[in-house]
Amino acid sequence: MRILWIGAHPDDELFVAPWLARLRTTAGAKIAFLIATRGELGVCSPTLRSELDLGSVREAEMKDAAASFDAELQFLGWRDGIARQPEDVLRGWASDAGGRKALRKQLRDAVEGLSPDWIVTFDRRHGCTWHADHRALGALVQSLALSIPVTLAESRITFSSPLHIQPGVREAEPVDCRDTWDDLARDMASHRSQFDPETVELFRNVPQEQRIVWLLHLPAWRRWRYLRDNVAGAATRVKSFVRDSVRARAARA
Ligand SMILES: [Zn+2]
Repeated sequence: MRILWIGAHPDDELFVAPWLARLRTTAGAKIAFLIATRGELGVCSPTLRSELDLGSVREAEMKDAAASFDAELQFLGWRDGIARQPEDVLRGWASDAGGRKALRKQLRDAVEGLSPDWIVTFDRRHGCTWHADHRALGALVQSLALSIPVTLAESRITFSSPLHIQPGVREAEPVDCRDTWDDLARDMASHRSQFDPETVELFRNVPQEQRIVWLLHLPAWRRWRYLRDNVAGAATRVKSFVRDSVRARAARA
């Protein structure tokens, strides 16, 4: 089975990294990354000085990250951070591509070239961080109406201490990723220009009960019975684990 993460920038895969790692180990999944921009307008860590432009630095970091997942990697080469509203981002990308139809064709061709069985991308409603590029890309992927199942990244994360990982929408499902949590820290460490070692450590040391990736499976997902059951089983286990911990804490209080 081939799983394709479609992200807006190098490092966006962190929202699902422990889950991708989990699918590699439990279901033998092959991972591919399709990244819309090179992240050239992102903020560069002040501790990192480079002769290269940020887009080249981040492209190289994404190659490292992909290699650690043994994943195929492709960039779409769209412009980073061109607008503050998703609709304006889509307008800008479409104008670069020669129209909406041409933009959708670029994305569809890239997806078909990577021949995934399953796609994971942003939820256009919040894009995990409200970033306009994330939300625009989520909307664009959904607008393709692909026959491939699509799952949305739903983890909303505070990137500073104390770290909290919350679901972006009420109907999101938690997936217990305690076994592959280290893969998140490893992925973040690949993106040296974006995360300083303290931030990586903060994520590495998240309390066990917070080691969850929140997801929302869109309906076509139901065709993939085996994986649905696998994830649903994990979701039930993590729900009861969280419930038991809350009760235990209440009992102590
Ligand atoms: Zn991003």
